[in-house]
Amino acid sequence: MSDSRSLYEKMILDHYKNPRNYGKIQAADKIVEAVNPLCGDTFTLYIMFNDDRINALQFTGSGCAISKASASLMTELLTGKSRHEANKIADAFQEMLRTEPDAPIAEEELGMLAAFAGVREFPIRIKCATLAWRALIRCFDDEKEGGDVAATD
Ligand code: ZN
Repeated sequence: MSDSRSLYEKMILDHYKNPRNYGKIQAADKIVEAVNPLCGDTFTLYIMFNDDRINALQFTGSGCAISKASASLMTELLTGKSRHEANKIADAFQEMLRTEPDAPIAEEELGMLAAFAGVREFPIRIKCATLAWRALIRCFDDEKEGGDVAATD
C-alpha cells in the first residue's frame, strides 16, 4: 500500500467518524433524501441558498464509511459554491469514478476527492460514493423545472 493511499484511507475514516456539517438546518430552503437501498445508506441533505450560491449545506443520516465520508466531504467542498461550480465538481468526481481502477487521476483538480479513487476497485461502492452528490445535483434540476429559480446557465 502506497503512502498516499493509506493517507486517503485515513481521511475517509476521519470524515466517517467525525462527519463535518452534520445536523439539520431548520430553515433549509431544500431538504433532499438520498437513499441507496443496495447498501442501506440513508441520508438527508439540508441546503440553504443565497441567490445562486450554496450558503449552507448539512446532512444527517447513516450509511457505510464511503457514503458518509463522501457526504461529509461534499458539504465541505460545496459550501459557498455556485450551482454551476458544484455541478462541475460533482461531474469531475463522478467521471473519475467511472474510469478503470488503475487509470491515472487528475489529483490536482480533484483535491481531497482523489481519496475516493480506490473505490473504483469495488463497483458496488461507487453508488455509495456518489449518493449524496447525485441527490444534490438532482435537487438543482428540480428547482429549474419548478421555475421558481431563474436558470442562468
Ligand atoms: Zn454504502
